[in-house]
Amino acid sequence: MRKLTRRSTVLFTLISLALGTTASVAGAEPDKKPVPKVAVIGTGGTISGVSKNRVSFQDYESGKLPISKMVDDLKPEVDTVADVTTEQFGNKGSGSYSIADYRRLTATVDQALKTNDAVVVTTGTDTMEEFAYWLDLTVRSDKPVVLTGSMRPWTVIGTDAPANLYNAIHLAASGKTTCYGTVLMLNDQIQAAREVRKTDALRMDTFSSGASGELGVVDQDNIRLNRAPARIQQCGKKTWETPFDLDKMGKTLPRVEIAYSYQDAGGEAIKAFADAGADGVVTAGTGAGGVSPQMSAARKDAVKNGVIFASTTRTGSGAVYDKNTDGVIGADDLTPQKARLLLLLSLAKTDDQNQIRTWFSTLGAAQFITPRR
Ligand code: ASP
Repeated sequence: MRKLTRRSTVLFTLISLALGTTASVAGAEPDKKPVPKVAVIGTGGTISGVSKNRVSFQDYESGKLPISKMVDDLKPEVDTVADVTTEQFGNKGSGSYSIADYRRLTATVDQALKTNDAVVVTTGTDTMEEFAYWLDLTVRSDKPVVLTGSMRPWTVIGTDAPANLYNAIHLAASGKTTCYGTVLMLNDQIQAAREVRKTDALRMDTFSSGASGELGVVDQDNIRLNRAPARIQQCGKKTWETPFDLDKMGKTLPRVEIAYSYQDAGGEAIKAFADAGADGVVTAGTGAGGVSPQMSAARKDAVKNGVIFASTTRTGSGAVYDKNTDGVIGADDLTPQKARLLLLLSLAKTDDQNQIRTWFSTLGAAQFITPRR
């Protein structure tokens, strides 16, 4: 293109102003509409997996592709919804991350939210529900945090990976989940961190929020939100934040393990956890939290030695209500793996059992409490 002289530039600007046009002078291209800034933090999983061939849907190496390359693959379309930057936090299976890593991830997300409008985190799906609940409980900012991943690697035909990443960025950029805490976006469905579970080892619609239902859907340009997590009622208030500010916690966090109950289950697992120094144990009980007689006896001994228990159900849904039993806290409708994270963070804050009981029954609980008139 011929270079514009200074005189013709001034003339062009005057004509543009007179016509009320917004065409920019350099290259006479239309100004780009500003789009929200979204940071995409990659941690690995199937979404960044490379398959053996184009049809090896379940035979692939996960955590291979860098997140920058994945976002590049979505260009130019993604540029119309967000101004995306990427950060490679790690690149491995979701199950390989430790609680110390989780702590660093929270700091990374909060740091990114200081200069961005929203954050997307990509993870493996196996423990994505734990990543999500952890971030929900620990991130300080109320800006959107969206987790995504995929059930098929990036490189097979019919993969869900690029579509999930694109829709997650689109959802984050929309700002529609501000004050929702952390949400999941896979298979076009938006799910709340506290309620979502992986329900199938292989299917693409594996994530479900059970009886609570999904929060909404991403239908191409239409982002529908049909419900919101209860904490949205505190939006804009200090009380929106959870009590778990990691910056104010000690270097080492408590250790909490999970013991599964079944017919004639032995008490050795609980005893071993207690002997190994666990501060808390979550029981995945039968029905409404029942454990075998051997486990019950081992639990009594462990409580005497200061171990705190949270009681959950192995059934996959429903609540275990608190009975105010010394050392044993009903975990409401949290799954064992999520109750474990809440107990761990609670024990890092306090050893006041009543306070922990209150957190279990109220913090982010799915029910809305109608204010008294
Ligand atoms: N093994 C993978 C993981 O990192 C599975 C997945 O991403 O779906 O969790």
